[in-house]
Amino acid sequence: MSFANCGLPFYVGDVIEDERALLMASPELFWQRFSIRVFTNTEVVSIDRQRGQVAVQELESGQPRIERYDSLVLAPGAAPIRPRVTGTGLAGVFSVRNIPDSRGIRSWISSRNPRTAVVVGGGFIGLEMAENLARRGLAVTVLEKLPQVMASLDPEMAVPIHTHLTTEGVALHLNDGLASIQELPERGLVVVAESGARLQADLVILALGVKPDVGLARDAGLAIGARGGIVVDDQMRTSDPHIWAVGDAVEVPDVVTGQETVLPLAGPANRQGRVAAESIAGRRTAFRGVQATAVVGVLGLTVASTGASEKGLRRAGVSNFQSVYLHPGHHAGYYPGAKPIHLKLLFSNIDGRILGAQAVGCEGVEKRIDVIATAIQFGGTVHHLAEAELCYAPQFGAAKDPVNLAGMLAQNVLNGDMPVADWHALGDTSALLLDVREPGEFADGHVPNALNIPLSQLRIRHGELPVDRDIWVYCGVGQRAYYAVRFLAQCGYRASNLSGGYATYLAARDAGVAP
Ligand SMILES: Cc1cc2nc3c(=O)[nH]c(=O)nc-3n(C[C@H](O)[C@H](O)[C@H](O)COP(=O)(O)OP(=O)(O)OC[C@H]3O[C@@H](n4cnc5c(N)ncnc54)[C@H](O)[C@@H]3O)c2cc1C
Repeated sequence: MSFANCGLPFYVGDVIEDERALLMASPELFWQRFSIRVFTNTEVVSIDRQRGQVAVQELESGQPRIERYDSLVLAPGAAPIRPRVTGTGLAGVFSVRNIPDSRGIRSWISSRNPRTAVVVGGGFIGLEMAENLARRGLAVTVLEKLPQVMASLDPEMAVPIHTHLTTEGVALHLNDGLASIQELPERGLVVVAESGARLQADLVILALGVKPDVGLARDAGLAIGARGGIVVDDQMRTSDPHIWAVGDAVEVPDVVTGQETVLPLAGPANRQGRVAAESIAGRRTAFRGVQATAVVGVLGLTVASTGASEKGLRRAGVSNFQSVYLHPGHHAGYYPGAKPIHLKLLFSNIDGRILGAQAVGCEGVEKRIDVIATAIQFGGTVHHLAEAELCYAPQFGAAKDPVNLAGMLAQNVLNGDMPVADWHALGDTSALLLDVREPGEFADGHVPNALNIPLSQLRIRHGELPVDRDIWVYCGVGQRAYYAVRFLAQCGYRASNLSGGYATYLAARDAGVAP
């Protein structure tokens, strides 16, 4: 009972060597501490709501039995999506949901000595599996139907992950779906993609996402929502007042968009369990909803996000928002070893309310996203981020922490001090593109058709610029362009900052969202 699903990829990767470490509790412990009887190897097969009982089957003996309830909690989790293609049942093809799955993968690795693996799906479980299989020495290819991994991120924010995976030797096969899996006559399998591409694999992991396991609930006539999860109220009560449901199986409101969502993550599942227990015990506690705070490690890179993405906001019909990009070091630049964090902050352009953030980097990434997540929880604005008093010593952060900087940048936009231009609109603008980096940087690469006047010469040469045309300014990461925009605005030019600078341009271009 209560095994650590989140540890399964690391058990495959041998980071967790002893399977027993994955077991968080045992039936004996539950009985000793709480007088709670736990029946393992026992499946609930149906619910009789009129009689208040469930029909169960003991899986080892095949023995059926009835259990009575006054209050029933459903926590069946989510099941891996099995694609409807041939070959998913072949030996050597695995999903990763439970300990037997990961035990199977481990024993396949030790007995068959596979050299190549294809991971189908570039979500967080797919990437964790890719990391752990690479750690075991396999040559890994990730097959992903979308043009990007980590669909929860905006496309340009996934680009550093693509670069990092490729650098670390994980091959990416994007924009292509799974068509079938076939057995090769001599050895191994071949994963056939929709494009016809054939990817050889001694081991295949299916990580195409999960869907709420609602069979029992549906058969019992409980309401199932549009997103496919069990419908619950804020006390986790289903459409039957005697039945509660929690975890990956339920639909809950997204606190940013207000729309129902399914979010198969462990933190919300645990909080929902507490809310349901309090509700059953007669205390009215409300579940506030979810904001999709998540983190994943990918071969030394950390990817974290909270709240809505830009595409999520657009999907939800929200248009009154703005974004800023920044690439600060994870600690003070003068202290050795500072590594960049690529950060995108989304906020309401009406009142500055924080709507979401995404960050990618090597260190200190999840700390910044956790701070922003907490601010979102308390209805915080970008002004709160600018004012946040955070830990600082040179080896940990900066006197202006990346979180402060993100808030200050957003304030500059809201105050009108720094109009921002959107990289996405680069193809449709008649604005003059002004690159204010030094000539050497410009020579190393620049946005096509950009004019180069370095910031260091701008106060002398600004007369070369048109006063009657929009000027979109960029530099390396956005800071020099900010100084340039301020100066040009004071001289009467119509200048805007291309947020995030050339670093964001390269990501947006590689993601196909900028020309
Ligand atoms: C490989 C992997 C890695 C993950 N990593 C992370 C992570 O890093 N961070 C994070 O936040 N989340 C992670 N998750 C998600 C997290 O594990 C889930 O969100 C969480 O476990 C959900 O809890 P739950 O109780 O709803 O479902 P589960 O933990 O899945 O538990 C459901 C249980 O119900 C049992 N069950 C189902 N149907 C029946 C039935 N009819 N009768 C009796 N028993 C039944 C199942 O066997 C299972 O034991 C990961 C998941 C996986 C699979």
